[in-house]
Amino acid sequence: MITSQTTLKPKVRAFLEGRKELYINGEFVPSISGKTFNVYNPATEEVFAEVSEAQAEDVDQAVKAARQAFEEGEWSKLSAADRSHLIYKLADLIEQNREELAQLESLDNGKPYAVALEDDIDGTAEHFRYYAGWATKILGQTVPISPDYLNYTRHEPVGVVGQIIPWNFPLSMASWKLGAALATGCTVVLKPAEQTPLSLLYAASLFKEAGFPDGVVNFAPGFGDIAGAAIVDHRDIDKLAFTGSTAVGKSIMRKAAESIKHVTLELGGKSPNIILEDADIEKAIEGAFDGIMYNHGQNCSAGSRVFVHRKHYDRVVDELAKRAEEVKLGNGLDPETDMGPLVSKEQFDRVLHYIRIGKEEGARLVAGGESAFDKGYFVQPTVFADVEDDMTIVREEIFGPVVAVFPFDTTEEAVRRANDSLYGLAAAVWTENIKRGHQVAHDLKAGTVWINDYNLENPAAAFGGYKQSGIGREMGNYALDNYMEVKSVWVNLQ
Ligand code: ADP
Repeated sequence: MITSQTTLKPKVRAFLEGRKELYINGEFVPSISGKTFNVYNPATEEVFAEVSEAQAEDVDQAVKAARQAFEEGEWSKLSAADRSHLIYKLADLIEQNREELAQLESLDNGKPYAVALEDDIDGTAEHFRYYAGWATKILGQTVPISPDYLNYTRHEPVGVVGQIIPWNFPLSMASWKLGAALATGCTVVLKPAEQTPLSLLYAASLFKEAGFPDGVVNFAPGFGDIAGAAIVDHRDIDKLAFTGSTAVGKSIMRKAAESIKHVTLELGGKSPNIILEDADIEKAIEGAFDGIMYNHGQNCSAGSRVFVHRKHYDRVVDELAKRAEEVKLGNGLDPETDMGPLVSKEQFDRVLHYIRIGKEEGARLVAGGESAFDKGYFVQPTVFADVEDDMTIVREEIFGPVVAVFPFDTTEEAVRRANDSLYGLAAAVWTENIKRGHQVAHDLKAGTVWINDYNLENPAAAFGGYKQSGIGREMGNYALDNYMEVKSVWVNLQ
Protein backbone atom coordinates (compact mmCIF):
# COMPACT_ATOMS: atom_id res chain seq x y z
CA MET A 1 0.00 0.00 0.00
CA ILE A 2 1.31 3.44 -0.90
CA THR A 3 1.71 5.57 2.19
CA SER A 4 4.59 7.90 1.43
CA GLN A 5 4.27 11.07 -0.56
CA THR A 6 7.26 10.23 -2.76
CA THR A 7 5.00 9.30 -5.67
CA LEU A 8 3.43 12.75 -5.69
CA LYS A 9 4.17 15.27 -8.40
CA PRO A 10 6.49 18.17 -7.39
CA LYS A 11 3.69 20.77 -7.58
CA VAL A 12 1.48 18.63 -5.35
CA ARG A 13 4.29 18.21 -2.83
CA ALA A 14 4.96 21.94 -2.89
CA PHE A 15 1.25 22.65 -2.42
CA LEU A 16 1.03 20.24 0.52
CA GLU A 17 4.14 21.74 2.12
CA GLY A 18 2.87 25.31 1.70
CA ARG A 19 0.20 27.16 3.65
CA LYS A 20 -3.33 26.21 2.72
CA GLU A 21 -5.40 29.24 3.47
CA LEU A 22 -8.72 30.84 2.66
CA TYR A 23 -9.00 32.45 -0.75
CA ILE A 24 -10.63 35.84 -0.29
CA ASN A 25 -10.54 38.85 -2.60
CA GLY A 26 -7.88 37.27 -4.77
CA GLU A 27 -5.50 36.56 -1.89
CA PHE A 28 -4.66 33.55 0.25
CA VAL A 29 -5.22 34.63 3.85
CA PRO A 30 -5.24 32.83 7.20
CA SER A 31 -8.52 32.81 9.09
CA ILE A 32 -8.87 35.87 11.33
CA SER A 33 -8.94 33.61 14.39
CA GLY A 34 -5.86 31.71 13.19
CA LYS A 35 -7.80 28.46 13.52
CA THR A 36 -6.95 25.49 11.30
CA PHE A 37 -8.32 22.00 10.80
CA ASN A 38 -6.76 18.67 9.81
CA VAL A 39 -7.34 16.86 6.56
CA TYR A 40 -7.03 13.05 6.64
CA ASN A 41 -5.93 10.57 4.03
CA PRO A 42 -8.78 8.03 4.23
CA ALA A 43 -6.54 5.21 2.98
CA THR A 44 -4.08 5.59 5.86
CA GLU A 45 -6.05 7.55 8.49
CA GLU A 46 -3.06 9.92 8.65
CA VAL A 47 -3.33 13.70 8.77
CA PHE A 48 -1.67 14.92 5.59
CA ALA A 49 -2.67 18.57 5.47
CA GLU A 50 -3.70 21.43 7.72
CA VAL A 51 -6.05 24.06 6.35
CA SER A 52 -7.16 27.47 7.65
CA GLU A 53 -10.67 27.21 9.05
CA ALA A 54 -13.18 29.88 8.09
CA GLN A 55 -15.39 31.31 10.84
CA ALA A 56 -18.34 33.67 10.49
CA GLU A 57 -16.01 36.70 10.45
CA ASP A 58 -14.04 35.25 7.53
CA VAL A 59 -17.23 34.47 5.62
CA ASP A 60 -18.23 38.08 6.20
CA GLN A 61 -14.95 39.27 4.63
CA ALA A 62 -15.55 36.95 1.68
CA VAL A 63 -19.11 38.26 1.20
CA LYS A 64 -17.87 41.86 1.32
CA ALA A 65 -15.28 41.07 -1.36
CA ALA A 66 -17.89 39.33 -3.51
CA ARG A 67 -20.31 42.25 -3.10
CA GLN A 68 -17.66 44.79 -4.04
CA ALA A 69 -16.68 42.73 -7.10
CA PHE A 70 -20.30 42.39 -8.12
CA GLU A 71 -21.37 46.01 -7.70
CA GLU A 72 -18.32 48.05 -8.58
CA GLY A 73 -15.36 45.91 -9.50
CA GLU A 74 -13.87 45.17 -12.86
CA TRP A 75 -16.06 42.05 -13.17
CA SER A 76 -19.25 44.08 -13.22
CA LYS A 77 -17.97 45.96 -16.28
CA LEU A 78 -16.78 42.99 -18.32
CA SER A 79 -18.50 42.01 -21.52
CA ALA A 80 -20.12 38.60 -21.75
CA ALA A 81 -17.34 37.59 -24.15
CA ASP A 82 -14.69 38.58 -21.61
CA ARG A 83 -16.39 36.47 -18.95
CA SER A 84 -16.49 33.59 -21.41
CA HIS A 85 -12.77 33.90 -22.17
CA LEU A 86 -11.88 33.86 -18.49
CA ILE A 87 -13.85 30.66 -17.93
CA TYR A 88 -12.27 29.03 -21.01
CA LYS A 89 -8.83 30.03 -19.72
CA LEU A 90 -9.60 28.49 -16.35
CA ALA A 91 -10.64 25.23 -18.05
CA ASP A 92 -7.34 25.17 -19.94
CA LEU A 93 -5.37 25.67 -16.73
CA ILE A 94 -7.32 22.89 -15.01
CA GLU A 95 -6.44 20.65 -17.92
CA GLN A 96 -2.77 21.63 -17.67
CA ASN A 97 -2.85 20.72 -13.97
CA ARG A 98 -5.01 17.64 -14.37
CA GLU A 99 -2.53 15.15 -12.93
CA GLU A 100 -1.76 17.33 -9.92
CA LEU A 101 -5.44 17.89 -9.22
CA ALA A 102 -6.23 14.20 -9.66
CA GLN A 103 -3.51 13.22 -7.19
CA LEU A 104 -4.90 15.63 -4.64
CA GLU A 105 -8.43 14.38 -5.25
CA SER A 106 -7.37 10.77 -4.84
CA LEU A 107 -5.39 11.50 -1.66
CA ASP A 108 -8.12 13.59 -0.12
CA ASN A 109 -11.23 11.65 -1.13
CA GLY A 110 -9.77 8.15 -1.52
CA LYS A 111 -11.04 7.49 -5.05
CA PRO A 112 -8.80 5.74 -7.60
CA TYR A 113 -6.43 8.15 -9.36
CA ALA A 114 -7.59 7.15 -12.87
CA VAL A 115 -11.20 7.91 -11.95
CA ALA A 116 -10.21 11.22 -10.39
CA LEU A 117 -8.28 12.11 -13.53
CA GLU A 118 -10.83 11.22 -16.19
CA ASP A 119 -14.12 11.75 -14.42
CA ASP A 120 -13.52 14.40 -11.79
CA ILE A 121 -10.83 16.62 -13.26
CA ASP A 122 -11.45 16.26 -16.99
CA GLY A 123 -15.16 16.50 -16.22
CA THR A 124 -14.51 19.74 -14.35
CA ALA A 125 -12.67 21.28 -17.32
CA GLU A 126 -15.48 20.24 -19.67
CA HIS A 127 -18.08 21.64 -17.32
CA PHE A 128 -16.39 25.03 -17.28
CA ARG A 129 -16.05 24.99 -21.07
CA TYR A 130 -19.74 24.26 -21.48
CA TYR A 131 -20.70 27.28 -19.34
CA ALA A 132 -18.03 29.47 -20.91
CA GLY A 133 -20.01 28.95 -24.10
CA TRP A 134 -23.25 30.01 -22.45
CA ALA A 135 -21.93 33.37 -21.18
CA THR A 136 -22.46 34.96 -24.60
CA LYS A 137 -25.83 33.34 -25.25
CA ILE A 138 -27.94 34.64 -22.40
CA LEU A 139 -30.82 36.52 -23.98
CA GLY A 140 -33.85 38.41 -22.79
CA GLN A 141 -37.11 38.81 -24.71
CA THR A 142 -38.86 41.67 -26.46
CA VAL A 143 -42.57 41.55 -25.79
CA PRO A 144 -44.91 43.17 -28.34
CA ILE A 145 -47.54 44.62 -26.01
CA SER A 146 -49.08 47.23 -28.32
CA PRO A 147 -48.01 50.09 -30.65
CA ASP A 148 -47.87 52.30 -27.57
CA TYR A 149 -45.75 50.19 -25.29
CA LEU A 150 -42.58 48.18 -25.57
CA ASN A 151 -41.74 45.64 -22.94
CA TYR A 152 -38.49 43.74 -22.75
CA THR A 153 -36.74 41.49 -20.26
CA ARG A 154 -33.19 41.60 -19.03
CA HIS A 155 -31.70 38.47 -17.52
CA GLU A 156 -29.49 39.91 -14.83
CA PRO A 157 -27.13 38.01 -12.53
CA VAL A 158 -28.79 37.42 -9.16
CA GLY A 159 -25.82 38.89 -7.26
CA VAL A 160 -23.66 37.36 -4.55
CA VAL A 161 -24.13 33.63 -4.34
CA GLY A 162 -23.33 31.32 -1.42
CA GLN A 163 -22.48 27.79 -2.47
CA ILE A 164 -21.96 24.78 -0.21
CA ILE A 165 -20.73 21.50 -1.63
CA PRO A 166 -20.05 17.92 -0.48
CA TRP A 167 -16.97 15.67 -0.52
CA ASN A 168 -17.89 12.95 -3.03
CA PHE A 169 -16.70 14.77 -6.19
CA PRO A 170 -14.88 17.74 -4.62
CA LEU A 171 -13.67 19.80 -7.58
CA SER A 172 -16.35 18.58 -9.94
CA MET A 173 -19.12 19.63 -7.53
CA ALA A 174 -17.48 23.05 -7.30
CA SER A 175 -17.56 23.34 -11.10
CA TRP A 176 -21.26 22.41 -11.18
CA LYS A 177 -21.90 25.34 -8.90
CA LEU A 178 -19.39 27.82 -10.28
CA GLY A 179 -19.89 27.30 -14.02
CA ALA A 180 -23.41 28.67 -14.29
CA ALA A 181 -22.83 31.33 -11.61
CA LEU A 182 -19.81 32.78 -13.43
CA ALA A 183 -21.37 32.52 -16.89
CA THR A 184 -24.29 34.65 -15.72
CA GLY A 185 -22.03 37.22 -14.01
CA CYS A 186 -22.59 36.43 -10.33
CA THR A 187 -19.87 36.51 -7.71
CA VAL A 188 -19.42 33.65 -5.29
CA VAL A 189 -18.52 32.58 -1.77
CA LEU A 190 -18.08 28.82 -1.83
CA LYS A 191 -17.46 26.42 1.03
CA PRO A 192 -15.93 23.05 0.14
CA ALA A 193 -16.62 20.08 2.41
CA GLU A 194 -14.38 19.92 5.47
CA GLN A 195 -13.27 16.40 4.43
CA THR A 196 -12.00 17.45 0.98
CA PRO A 197 -10.95 21.11 0.65
CA LEU A 198 -7.62 20.62 -1.14
CA SER A 199 -8.31 20.42 -4.88
CA LEU A 200 -10.37 23.62 -4.72
CA LEU A 201 -7.62 25.47 -2.81
CA TYR A 202 -5.10 24.31 -5.40
CA ALA A 203 -7.49 25.48 -8.13
CA ALA A 204 -7.83 28.90 -6.45
CA SER A 205 -4.45 29.89 -7.84
CA LEU A 206 -5.66 28.84 -11.30
CA PHE A 207 -8.56 31.30 -11.02
CA LYS A 208 -5.96 33.94 -10.21
CA GLU A 209 -3.71 32.89 -13.08
CA ALA A 210 -6.67 32.85 -15.50
CA GLY A 211 -7.20 36.51 -14.62
CA PHE A 212 -10.48 36.49 -12.72
CA PRO A 213 -10.75 39.86 -10.97
CA ASP A 214 -10.32 39.82 -7.19
CA GLY A 215 -13.44 38.97 -5.21
CA VAL A 216 -15.27 37.15 -8.01
CA VAL A 217 -14.66 33.77 -6.39
CA ASN A 218 -13.94 33.36 -2.70
CA PHE A 219 -13.30 30.01 -1.04
CA ALA A 220 -13.99 29.50 2.65
CA PRO A 221 -13.00 26.01 3.79
CA GLY A 222 -14.42 25.04 7.14
CA PHE A 223 -17.18 23.18 8.92
CA GLY A 224 -20.86 23.07 8.05
CA ASP A 225 -22.23 24.34 11.34
CA ILE A 226 -19.77 27.28 11.41
CA ALA A 227 -18.67 28.47 7.95
CA GLY A 228 -21.62 26.79 6.21
CA ALA A 229 -24.13 28.26 8.65
CA ALA A 230 -22.49 31.70 8.29
CA ILE A 231 -23.06 31.56 4.53
CA VAL A 232 -26.66 30.45 4.97
CA ASP A 233 -27.37 33.19 7.52
CA HIS A 234 -25.51 36.03 5.82
CA ARG A 235 -27.84 38.92 5.02
CA ASP A 236 -25.87 40.08 2.01
CA ILE A 237 -26.02 36.82 0.10
CA ASP A 238 -28.73 36.80 -2.56
CA LYS A 239 -28.88 33.15 -3.40
CA LEU A 240 -27.85 29.80 -1.90
CA ALA A 241 -26.92 26.69 -3.82
CA PHE A 242 -26.39 23.56 -1.78
CA THR A 243 -25.49 19.97 -2.52
CA GLY A 244 -25.51 17.54 0.40
CA SER A 245 -27.78 15.63 2.71
CA THR A 246 -31.54 16.09 2.75
CA ALA A 247 -31.44 16.84 6.49
CA VAL A 248 -29.06 19.80 6.03
CA GLY A 249 -30.97 20.86 2.90
CA LYS A 250 -34.15 21.16 4.96
CA SER A 251 -32.44 23.28 7.59
CA ILE A 252 -30.97 25.54 4.89
CA MET A 253 -34.37 26.04 3.32
CA ARG A 254 -35.91 26.95 6.66
CA LYS A 255 -33.17 29.48 7.40
CA ALA A 256 -33.22 30.92 3.88
CA ALA A 257 -36.88 31.75 4.42
CA GLU A 258 -35.81 34.43 6.93
CA SER A 259 -34.62 36.71 4.15
CA ILE A 260 -36.30 34.97 1.18
CA LYS A 261 -32.95 33.98 -0.30
CA HIS A 262 -33.29 32.10 -3.55
CA VAL A 263 -32.40 28.46 -2.92
CA THR A 264 -31.51 25.49 -5.05
CA LEU A 265 -30.88 22.13 -3.43
CA GLU A 266 -29.38 18.92 -4.72
CA LEU A 267 -29.97 16.33 -2.02
CA GLY A 268 -30.07 12.61 -1.34
CA GLY A 269 -31.38 9.69 -3.31
CA LYS A 270 -32.35 6.04 -3.14
CA SER A 271 -32.38 5.41 -6.82
CA PRO A 272 -34.04 2.34 -8.36
CA ASN A 273 -32.53 0.33 -11.17
CA ILE A 274 -35.14 -1.87 -12.86
CA ILE A 275 -34.20 -4.91 -14.92
CA LEU A 276 -37.19 -6.01 -16.99
CA GLU A 277 -37.81 -9.53 -18.28
CA ASP A 278 -36.61 -8.65 -21.80
CA ALA A 279 -33.40 -6.86 -20.73
CA ASP A 280 -30.00 -7.62 -22.23
CA ILE A 281 -29.10 -9.30 -18.99
CA GLU A 282 -25.30 -9.14 -19.21
CA LYS A 283 -25.36 -5.41 -19.83
CA ALA A 284 -27.99 -4.93 -17.14
CA ILE A 285 -25.89 -6.76 -14.56
CA GLU A 286 -22.86 -4.66 -15.39
CA GLY A 287 -24.96 -1.50 -15.28
CA ALA A 288 -26.50 -2.47 -11.95
CA PHE A 289 -23.10 -3.19 -10.45
CA ASP A 290 -21.42 -0.03 -11.67
CA GLY A 291 -24.60 1.91 -10.90
CA ILE A 292 -24.16 1.29 -7.18
CA MET A 293 -20.41 0.75 -6.82
CA TYR A 294 -19.18 3.75 -8.81
CA ASN A 295 -17.41 6.16 -6.43
CA HIS A 296 -17.85 3.49 -3.72
CA GLY A 297 -21.59 4.19 -3.65
CA GLN A 298 -20.82 7.71 -2.46
CA ASN A 299 -22.93 9.19 -5.18
CA CYS A 300 -26.30 10.83 -4.73
CA SER A 301 -27.65 9.06 -7.81
CA ALA A 302 -26.24 5.62 -6.83
CA GLY A 303 -28.53 2.79 -7.93
CA SER A 304 -28.98 1.40 -4.43
CA ARG A 305 -32.24 -0.52 -5.10
CA VAL A 306 -32.05 -3.07 -7.89
CA PHE A 307 -35.43 -4.53 -8.96
CA VAL A 308 -35.02 -7.69 -11.05
CA HIS A 309 -37.69 -9.61 -12.93
CA ARG A 310 -38.15 -12.91 -11.09
CA LYS A 311 -37.03 -14.87 -14.14
CA HIS A 312 -33.50 -13.37 -13.86
CA TYR A 313 -33.40 -12.79 -10.12
CA ASP A 314 -31.13 -15.66 -9.00
CA ARG A 315 -28.68 -15.08 -11.82
CA VAL A 316 -28.46 -11.35 -11.16
CA VAL A 317 -27.95 -11.86 -7.42
CA ASP A 318 -25.20 -14.42 -8.05
CA GLU A 319 -23.43 -12.26 -10.62
CA LEU A 320 -23.57 -9.14 -8.49
CA ALA A 321 -22.12 -11.10 -5.59
CA LYS A 322 -19.36 -12.53 -7.81
CA ARG A 323 -18.42 -9.11 -9.09
CA ALA A 324 -18.44 -7.67 -5.56
CA GLU A 325 -16.00 -10.34 -4.44
CA GLU A 326 -13.65 -9.61 -7.33
CA VAL A 327 -13.26 -5.91 -6.53
CA LYS A 328 -9.72 -5.01 -5.52
CA LEU A 329 -9.79 -2.60 -2.62
CA GLY A 330 -6.75 -0.42 -2.04
CA ASN A 331 -5.13 2.96 -1.89
CA GLY A 332 -6.48 5.23 -4.62
CA LEU A 333 -2.96 6.06 -5.80
CA ASP A 334 -2.17 2.39 -6.41
CA PRO A 335 -2.89 1.70 -10.11
CA GLU A 336 -4.14 -1.81 -9.24
CA THR A 337 -6.97 -0.42 -7.12
CA ASP A 338 -10.59 -0.77 -8.27
CA MET A 339 -12.14 0.77 -5.18
CA GLY A 340 -10.58 3.03 -2.56
CA PRO A 341 -11.59 3.74 1.02
CA LEU A 342 -14.71 5.64 2.03
CA VAL A 343 -14.03 9.31 2.57
CA SER A 344 -13.94 9.52 6.37
CA LYS A 345 -14.27 7.74 9.68
CA GLU A 346 -17.77 9.13 10.02
CA GLN A 347 -18.79 7.71 6.65
CA PHE A 348 -17.10 4.38 7.41
CA ASP A 349 -19.03 4.07 10.69
CA ARG A 350 -22.27 5.10 9.05
CA VAL A 351 -22.04 2.54 6.24
CA LEU A 352 -21.07 -0.29 8.62
CA HIS A 353 -23.97 0.73 10.85
CA TYR A 354 -26.40 0.30 7.93
CA ILE A 355 -24.84 -3.05 7.01
CA ARG A 356 -25.38 -4.21 10.60
CA ILE A 357 -29.02 -3.07 10.49
CA GLY A 358 -29.51 -4.89 7.16
CA LYS A 359 -28.31 -8.12 8.75
CA GLU A 360 -30.41 -7.60 11.89
CA GLU A 361 -33.57 -6.87 9.90
CA GLY A 362 -33.14 -10.16 8.04
CA ALA A 363 -31.88 -9.23 4.57
CA ARG A 364 -29.80 -12.05 3.05
CA LEU A 365 -26.15 -11.02 2.82
CA VAL A 366 -24.64 -12.52 -0.32
CA ALA A 367 -21.36 -10.58 -0.58
CA GLY A 368 -19.20 -8.29 1.54
CA GLY A 369 -20.67 -7.01 4.76
CA GLU A 370 -17.44 -6.14 6.56
CA SER A 371 -14.70 -3.58 6.71
CA ALA A 372 -11.35 -4.47 5.12
CA PHE A 373 -7.70 -4.01 6.22
CA ASP A 374 -6.51 -2.82 9.62
CA LYS A 375 -5.97 0.75 8.50
CA GLY A 376 -8.05 3.01 6.30
CA TYR A 377 -11.79 3.41 5.88
CA PHE A 378 -12.31 0.44 3.58
CA VAL A 379 -15.66 -1.32 3.33
CA GLN A 380 -16.24 -4.39 1.18
CA PRO A 381 -18.70 -4.01 -1.68
CA THR A 382 -21.85 -5.45 -0.16
CA VAL A 383 -24.87 -7.13 -1.74
CA PHE A 384 -28.11 -7.85 0.12
CA ALA A 385 -30.78 -10.04 -1.50
CA ASP A 386 -34.37 -10.88 -0.50
CA VAL A 387 -34.81 -7.42 0.91
CA GLU A 388 -38.24 -6.20 2.05
CA ASP A 389 -39.53 -2.81 0.90
CA ASP A 390 -39.90 -1.49 4.45
CA MET A 391 -36.40 -2.34 5.69
CA THR A 392 -34.18 0.52 6.86
CA ILE A 393 -31.53 -0.22 4.22
CA VAL A 394 -34.22 0.28 1.58
CA ARG A 395 -35.80 3.43 2.99
CA GLU A 396 -32.67 5.39 3.96
CA GLU A 397 -29.76 6.61 1.90
CA ILE A 398 -26.58 4.72 2.86
CA PHE A 399 -24.11 6.53 0.58
CA GLY A 400 -21.80 3.54 0.45
CA PRO A 401 -21.09 0.40 -1.59
CA VAL A 402 -24.23 -1.41 -0.43
CA VAL A 403 -26.96 -2.61 -2.76
CA ALA A 404 -30.39 -4.13 -2.06
CA VAL A 405 -31.78 -6.53 -4.68
CA PHE A 406 -35.48 -7.40 -5.01
CA PRO A 407 -37.48 -9.70 -7.31
CA PHE A 408 -40.66 -8.49 -9.04
CA ASP A 409 -43.31 -10.05 -11.27
CA THR A 410 -44.83 -7.25 -13.36
CA THR A 411 -43.51 -3.98 -14.74
CA GLU A 412 -46.34 -2.03 -13.06
CA GLU A 413 -45.35 -3.54 -9.71
CA ALA A 414 -41.69 -2.64 -10.25
CA VAL A 415 -42.52 0.97 -11.12
CA ARG A 416 -44.89 1.33 -8.13
CA ARG A 417 -42.27 -0.02 -5.71
CA ALA A 418 -39.49 2.02 -7.34
CA ASN A 419 -41.55 5.18 -6.85
CA ASP A 420 -42.29 4.29 -3.22
CA SER A 421 -39.53 6.49 -1.80
CA LEU A 422 -39.10 9.92 -0.26
CA TYR A 423 -36.47 10.51 -2.89
CA GLY A 424 -36.62 10.98 -6.66
CA LEU A 425 -33.17 11.81 -7.95
CA ALA A 426 -32.44 9.16 -10.57
CA ALA A 427 -33.64 5.81 -11.90
CA ALA A 428 -32.86 3.35 -14.67
CA VAL A 429 -34.70 0.74 -16.68
CA TRP A 430 -33.19 -2.08 -18.71
CA THR A 431 -35.24 -3.47 -21.60
CA GLU A 432 -34.79 -4.38 -25.26
CA ASN A 433 -38.28 -3.02 -25.94
CA ILE A 434 -37.52 0.67 -26.35
CA LYS A 435 -41.20 1.61 -26.38
CA ARG A 436 -41.63 0.03 -22.96
CA GLY A 437 -38.41 1.73 -21.85
CA HIS A 438 -39.88 5.14 -22.66
CA GLN A 439 -43.16 4.28 -20.93
CA VAL A 440 -41.35 3.27 -17.75
CA ALA A 441 -39.16 6.38 -17.95
CA HIS A 442 -42.29 8.53 -18.10
CA ASP A 443 -43.84 6.74 -15.11
CA LEU A 444 -40.79 6.97 -12.85
CA LYS A 445 -40.76 9.93 -10.47
CA ALA A 446 -37.12 10.90 -10.83
CA GLY A 447 -35.18 13.87 -12.17
CA THR A 448 -33.01 11.65 -14.38
CA VAL A 449 -33.95 8.32 -15.97
CA TRP A 450 -31.47 6.21 -17.90
CA ILE A 451 -32.70 3.61 -20.38
CA ASN A 452 -30.16 0.78 -20.79
CA ASP A 453 -27.40 2.64 -19.01
CA TYR A 454 -26.55 4.15 -15.63
CA ASN A 455 -24.76 7.22 -14.25
CA LEU A 456 -24.49 9.01 -17.59
CA GLU A 457 -23.88 12.69 -17.06
CA ASN A 458 -23.03 15.60 -19.27
CA PRO A 459 -22.85 19.34 -18.65
CA ALA A 460 -25.58 19.78 -21.28
CA ALA A 461 -27.99 17.34 -19.59
CA ALA A 462 -30.18 18.64 -16.74
CA PHE A 463 -29.68 17.04 -13.33
CA GLY A 464 -31.73 17.38 -10.15
CA GLY A 465 -34.37 15.84 -8.00
CA TYR A 466 -38.06 15.18 -7.62
CA LYS A 467 -39.54 15.02 -4.10
CA GLN A 468 -37.01 15.24 -1.24
CA SER A 469 -34.08 14.91 -3.63
CA GLY A 470 -34.04 18.62 -4.23
CA ILE A 471 -35.25 21.82 -5.78
CA GLY A 472 -34.08 23.14 -9.14
CA ARG A 473 -31.85 21.69 -11.83
CA GLU A 474 -28.15 21.91 -12.39
CA MET A 475 -26.44 21.64 -15.80
CA GLY A 476 -27.75 22.47 -19.22
CA ASN A 477 -29.47 25.80 -19.79
CA TYR A 478 -31.64 25.05 -16.74
CA ALA A 479 -28.81 25.86 -14.34
CA LEU A 480 -28.54 29.40 -15.73
CA ASP A 481 -32.03 30.21 -14.46
CA ASN A 482 -30.85 29.55 -10.90
CA TYR A 483 -28.46 32.46 -11.15
CA MET A 484 -30.53 35.09 -12.91
CA GLU A 485 -33.21 37.59 -12.05
CA VAL A 486 -35.62 38.53 -14.81
CA LYS A 487 -36.25 42.25 -15.03
CA SER A 488 -39.24 43.41 -17.05
CA VAL A 489 -38.69 46.90 -18.53
CA TRP A 490 -41.60 48.97 -19.91
CA VAL A 491 -41.20 51.81 -22.37
CA ASN A 492 -43.98 54.27 -23.09
CA LEU A 493 -43.76 54.97 -26.81
CA GLN A 494 -46.61 57.47 -26.97
P1 ADP B 1 -22.67 14.58 4.29
O1 ADP B 1 -23.47 13.91 5.36
O2 ADP B 1 -22.67 13.85 3.01
O3 ADP B 1 -21.32 15.04 4.72
P2 ADP B 1 -23.75 17.20 4.64
O4 ADP B 1 -25.08 17.66 4.17
O5 ADP B 1 -23.54 17.05 6.10
O6 ADP B 1 -23.49 15.85 3.87
O7 ADP B 1 -22.59 18.13 4.08
C1 ADP B 1 -22.57 18.70 2.80
C2 ADP B 1 -22.00 20.10 2.91
O8 ADP B 1 -22.84 20.87 3.75
C3 ADP B 1 -20.61 20.16 3.54
O9 ADP B 1 -19.86 21.21 2.92
C4 ADP B 1 -20.92 20.51 4.97
O10 ADP B 1 -19.86 21.16 5.66
C5 ADP B 1 -22.10 21.44 4.80
N1 ADP B 1 -22.98 21.57 5.98
C6 ADP B 1 -23.22 20.64 6.93
N2 ADP B 1 -24.06 21.14 7.86
C7 ADP B 1 -24.36 22.41 7.49
C8 ADP B 1 -25.18 23.45 8.04
N3 ADP B 1 -25.86 23.27 9.17
N4 ADP B 1 -25.25 24.62 7.38
C9 ADP B 1 -24.58 24.81 6.22
N5 ADP B 1 -23.78 23.87 5.67
C10 ADP B 1 -23.68 22.69 6.28
